Amino acid sequence: MDRSEMKRRVCDAIDSHRDVIIALGRTIRDNPELGFKEHKTAATVAKIFAAHGIPCQEKLAITGVKGILMGGAAGPTVGILGELDSLLCADSPFGDKTTGAAHTCGHNAQIATCVGAGMGLKSSGVMEQLAGRVACFAVPAEEFVEIEYRLDLKRQGKIEFLGGKAELVRLGHMDDIQMAMLVHAAAVSPGPKLLHGSTSNGFVAKMIRFKGKASHAGVAPEQGINALNIMALAIMNINAQRETFRDEDTIRVHQIVTRGGDLVNIVPDDVRMEMFVRGKTVEAIQDANRKINRALEAAAMALDGEVEIQTLPGYLPRINETAVTGLLAGNFAALIGQDRLEIEGHITGSSDTGDLSHLMPMVEVKSGGFHGGLHTAAYGVADEEQAYIVPAKAMAMTVVDLLADHATVANRILADFKPKMSKPEYLACLREIK
Ligand SMILES: [Zn+2]
Ligand SMILES: [Zn+2]
Repeated sequence: MDRSEMKRRVCDAIDSHRDVIIALGRTIRDNPELGFKEHKTAATVAKIFAAHGIPCQEKLAITGVKGILMGGAAGPTVGILGELDSLLCADSPFGDKTTGAAHTCGHNAQIATCVGAGMGLKSSGVMEQLAGRVACFAVPAEEFVEIEYRLDLKRQGKIEFLGGKAELVRLGHMDDIQMAMLVHAAAVSPGPKLLHGSTSNGFVAKMIRFKGKASHAGVAPEQGINALNIMALAIMNINAQRETFRDEDTIRVHQIVTRGGDLVNIVPDDVRMEMFVRGKTVEAIQDANRKINRALEAAAMALDGEVEIQTLPGYLPRINETAVTGLLAGNFAALIGQDRLEIEGHITGSSDTGDLSHLMPMVEVKSGGFHGGLHTAAYGVADEEQAYIVPAKAMAMTVVDLLADHATVANRILADFKPKMSKPEYLACLREIK
């Protein structure tokens, strides 16, 4: 069977599962869960794998679900990833009214496309024609949020790293995958579109605790040390650093206050912030991080208070992979037209696909079919065909390109690929960040 016939069969099989795939995307949307808490979502994925004869492993890095499709002959394993987690957005019409969780980053579509691609490859019988395996991998905790909660998980020994893919790497669940792809939702692109060829910022996360001295805020403020004022100075100091950041380093520094004092009539003595320091390269992130540490320490010094700074490994910048991207983009072009493809360039957000891109050919592209801005209440699926079905087809077609004819193409890509880090080097790099 030639490649075009295999692709036709896979796409027909995905079309015949169209209702199931779209229903899955909606079900996940309507049951959003934050990272490392995606228990219902994971159970839904495991159930649908079982219903379609795809054996899977569960509870990988707490909630990951890995479905395996075996080819007719031995060869490399291609990962098709889908992220399980949501964000918090109480105003989203599809938010969980109890927890405030909502899929405002479109990860529900990733799960539908990851599982949908697997269903198409399996039920079409095309896997028997291919050399290698496919891992349809629903992965936990891409959004690096709820840091206090995750540090608690760390203290309990349930995780070491706060992001899902780093945990999967650490635990060996990525060891059998040689290359991977993921289709993320694009912002404000209601119609057919593919954004590809991007790099992204990496970041470190920081937990800051400003320590002052409590006192009666009305009677004796002069006897206190106001930790909220230290924080205010720290933010001014950080803002004063911004003109020193080079445009080409695409630095982003942003923070939230997670504790601002307890009672208004007591001088605040314990004020806390979470921050990200993002940049285009590890060196640029380290340089900006040193400046931020100085800004924080200077603020504490000015008011004779103290500051505790905890810097945590976030994500590495994403390297632009070209070979698998080219195949995936070509398959999108066949489905939606070449004129719907755009090169994305560098984005100043971050993803832990950046970490994987240091270890293996890792492709992340963005599909249209969504309205509203990412991480806002307005975000949602505008076009179910484009959001759920087209990416499933394009990824399944790319598996055909990679693993047909004794996996010639996949093997050539792997022979040419020079990983930026080995797994031990990667883990050491994360563990060095303090
Ligand atoms: Zn996302
Ligand atoms: Zn996001």
